[in-house]
Amino acid sequence: MTRKTGFLSHELYMWHDTGSAAIFYPAGLKVQPGEHAENAETKRRFRNVLEVSGLLDKLVDIRPRAATEEEILRVHTRDYVARIKALSADRGGDAGETTPFGPGSYEIALLSAGGAIALTDAVMTGKIDNGYALVRPPGHHAEPDRGRGFCIFANIPVAAHHARKAHGIRRIAVVDWDVHHGNGTEKIFYEDAEALTISIHQDNWYPADSGHIHQTGDGAGKGYNINVPLPPGCGRDPYIATFERVVVPALRRFRPELIYIASGFDGSIYDPLGRMMVTSNTYRKLTQIMLGLADELCGGRLVLSHEGGYSAAYVPFCGLAVMEELSGIPTDIEDVFAAFIDTCGGHQLYPHQDEIIAKAAVLANGIPQR
Ligand code: ZN
Repeated sequence: MTRKTGFLSHELYMWHDTGSAAIFYPAGLKVQPGEHAENAETKRRFRNVLEVSGLLDKLVDIRPRAATEEEILRVHTRDYVARIKALSADRGGDAGETTPFGPGSYEIALLSAGGAIALTDAVMTGKIDNGYALVRPPGHHAEPDRGRGFCIFANIPVAAHHARKAHGIRRIAVVDWDVHHGNGTEKIFYEDAEALTISIHQDNWYPADSGHIHQTGDGAGKGYNINVPLPPGCGRDPYIATFERVVVPALRRFRPELIYIASGFDGSIYDPLGRMMVTSNTYRKLTQIMLGLADELCGGRLVLSHEGGYSAAYVPFCGLAVMEELSGIPTDIEDVFAAFIDTCGGHQLYPHQDEIIAKAAVLANGIPQR
């Protein structure tokens, strides 16, 4: 079955400048200058493989717009937005914690959040069935009053608030498969009973002391935040088990009107900033599960927005697999790495992994049936 799948990107996303660093430590007298881990290359190569495979021509081209200040202020504080704007107009700076940016990144971050908005509009109006926003800077670590973990503005929450205001929906689910905890998304929706947030991440990784399983929401939002802090080393089976035993029952009970995926590919086996073992075949399987849920619950409405993923060589294969599944259009580009890795050991579900998934499954089944 083929679908109308949208793809959104923009060259300006690639011009967001994270400066000179060793991985993410800023270069200086004791750190040799080099490329920051969050640079444009992984995203360029993701888009490039779509073009070379021929798939890009079969996707619906969606253009981003800049988010307005009013749209950003639904999620972020006025002081924070003003600070980013002033630094960006000068020479750049740091948005908070390990979030360096150069001149013009305020406008680029507006275009990034606006990309998630534009894709949401295209899905909500039926122009497309589903779609992928390959935006930059990413968003899921950004908190109301500070940038964190390479994220300036919270792209998905900004787009979700827009979906509520412009399209009259209430219940939104955000499933975050980035290897790091979606702390910003969690914080923004922590007391919101109409936003179900699920983050599947490496236990106590980034941010530190964040994303614990007992953090389930507060006030009216109690029970509507699920963290699945998986131990390092998880491959195919624990990821699929997490989706089948946690994400599926949680969303079936919550019945969202729109589903977002915070799509980081840093859970991949080759990622320098994660210690998981996911291959493109597993991202493909997770996409199938999410498509099935979207069909069953909300007319297929599924919006993916790009987050992390730092292996320039491997992210394109993960992205291509997801786009093939979203659109139902196969290509003839094979993931040679997956053919090798999927036959290696370590992909089965081990007891210490099962333990945390079982705890999260209890939370998922405790969500009131809508
Ligand atoms: Zn990440």
